[in-house]
Amino acid sequence: MKPLGPIPAGFDSLDGELAIGGQSASSLVERAGGTPLFVYSSSMLKERVASLRRAMPARLRIHYAMKANPYAPLLELMGSLVDGLDIASGGELKMALAAGLDPAAISFAGPGKRDEELEAAIAGGITLNLESVGEARRAFAIGDRIGKTPRLAIRVNPDFELRGSGMKMGGGAKPFGVDAAKVPDLAREVITAGADWRGLHIFTGSQALDADAIIETQANVLTLAANLANEIGADLLHLNMGGGFGIPYFNGDQPLDITAIGTALEERFASLPEELENTEFAIELGRYLVGEAGVYLTRIVDRKESHGTTYLVTDGGLHHQLAASGNFGTVVRRNYPAAIATRFGEEPVEEANIVGCLCTPLDRLADQAMLPHAEVGELVAVFCAGAYGASASPSAFLGQGPARELLV
Ligand SMILES: *Cc1c(COP(=O)(O)O)cnc(C)c1O
Repeated sequence: MKPLGPIPAGFDSLDGELAIGGQSASSLVERAGGTPLFVYSSSMLKERVASLRRAMPARLRIHYAMKANPYAPLLELMGSLVDGLDIASGGELKMALAAGLDPAAISFAGPGKRDEELEAAIAGGITLNLESVGEARRAFAIGDRIGKTPRLAIRVNPDFELRGSGMKMGGGAKPFGVDAAKVPDLAREVITAGADWRGLHIFTGSQALDADAIIETQANVLTLAANLANEIGADLLHLNMGGGFGIPYFNGDQPLDITAIGTALEERFASLPEELENTEFAIELGRYLVGEAGVYLTRIVDRKESHGTTYLVTDGGLHHQLAASGNFGTVVRRNYPAAIATRFGEEPVEEANIVGCLCTPLDRLADQAMLPHAEVGELVAVFCAGAYGASASPSAFLGQGPARELLV
């Protein structure tokens, strides 16, 4: 037996089934026209942003990192709830503008921005978080060519990283950002070139569940930003402090203590160094905002035994839920939270493996899980599917095609 991850709070049972937004899993599947299906709960999204705002200082702006989930109706909702949007490609820029989001509240980070992407961002009045000196110079040239002043910030590659972070994106040699020691020279070059100097972006990692690690990193980010502002010798209008807030995916994971983080940040904001007194601060979050509000629903198409092991074979799999299969940035595969959606709340009576329909042993949704007895035709739910699901999985693999998506 292997434990399943913790089912996020906020899901109820209706007529013995998992309910999302007050509707049973099977009625949602019917409404969407079939499985596999991602369902996102708008009330959970709203509640998540609201509780985060209650915990964080009023001065802190909350940005949504849309790479976590770019589904248009969800993006539109998130745009109405947060203060800014962080994008990482020209494609995301198109989606953000199509969702009617304010260009002035969008910033664009990410390595390898092509000239067309830089041009679209500059023309649209988006803030570019520069990843290198070369990118800065291409932005100046494009701004000159199209007669538009680029709005530029610098993404810093700090010399520290977020402790306990699932994916390390700061510290040492990185393709992301400009090494901290080189930032002041580049910032002065940006200002001298006549660009609209916006400030700094310091992202240090993802998926941290330890509040103390985040508190420590935020303190380091503020100190670094103040030192850099001082060396640059110009006001720092904006500081994107990164994010890294994690969600519990696996057995034993505890929810992040955002109250502790908010309290510590409030104290820091009360005694800021002079360089940061007038700075606008933001954090950028992806999975923390949307991850737990999404459920992936698949149907059992076969039930079989092999050498004494029960397999529930579903019509979904890693082509939609790569992360739950353990193949998206995890070293050791562990079970995501999962359940038989058509027997939600029933006592587990058997050990079974839930697998997908792809012809590869990588396609596992739950290993050796204790579950209620489920038959062909019943629905399986994989939780924590709101972030890095549909858009972060190889949906073309084996000719399977994308899942349906629904915001309720
Ligand atoms: C991916 C990414 C995020 C979002 O990460 P989450 O773990 O989903 O919160 C935020 N900022 C940057 C720069 C990123 O690359």
